[in-house]
Amino acid sequence: MTAISPIRPVRYWNGTPVPFITSWTKEVAPPQPVTVIEGCGGRGLGFRDEVAHIDRHYGVPWVRMPAVRGGRPDFKLVHPLRGRQAMSRLLCQVCGGPTIGTRTDERTLFLAGSAGGRPIAEGEQTMSPPVHAVCARLAVRECPPLRDRGWAAALVGYTPVWGVAGSLFHPHTLEELAAKKLCRVPFSDTRRIRWVLATHLIITLEQVTPVTDLDALVDEEAEAIRTSHRPVSGSGADRAGHGQTSSAAPRAGARG
Ligand SMILES: [Zn+2]
Repeated sequence: MTAISPIRPVRYWNGTPVPFITSWTKEVAPPQPVTVIEGCGGRGLGFRDEVAHIDRHYGVPWVRMPAVRGGRPDFKLVHPLRGRQAMSRLLCQVCGGPTIGTRTDERTLFLAGSAGGRPIAEGEQTMSPPVHAVCARLAVRECPPLRDRGWAAALVGYTPVWGVAGSLFHPHTLEELAAKKLCRVPFSDTRRIRWVLATHLIITLEQVTPVTDLDALVDEEAEAIRTSHRPVSGSGADRAGHGQTSSAAPRAGARG
């Protein structure tokens, strides 16, 4: 079987690369018809017309949002569905391709803004999905906050899910608590997790090794992809809750 590259073409807008997880202006949240529902574990937040396999992930209702990638990119906003998909399947947040199978040691690269040069720490939580090495290099060159204020990167061995971030609702009045503020709720908080409308999946980064030489990682990644003779899909890795199911496409200029 021939090697198949998991690195996808990056979308550009006005000459600027737009990450896979970025929201676009035509992706506007519709009204969210939340209500109190009786689930198997008791009362909790749900949608009046809930379709569990579409609306509920990790046992939590997820905000409804169209996914059309039209209009202009809003670089400050992460699309809640593409963000969750990228995190749960360990897809690259820049190109959307699978990161699983892009390193021989099966570790995953994470990239974060780091104004003070602080490295990514063992046990740190993040809402930011992983990234290919070649896509990380593109991001640190082209993404203004990373380019101008600094960044940190790390190879990570294990990424268990921790919880969600989203809007928290009052169990009796269904009033949105701390409106406009993103509440972080761990899955272990069995009381509050029932009343959150999720927008982000949060994972914990474990077995963390900080890295700085992205060029070296790009070379390792290219070599791993070149010498890989197994299909990337169905690799069996399931490090953030779901095995990734995307098929791989030929690489077509991640650096544009
Ligand atoms: Zn990528």
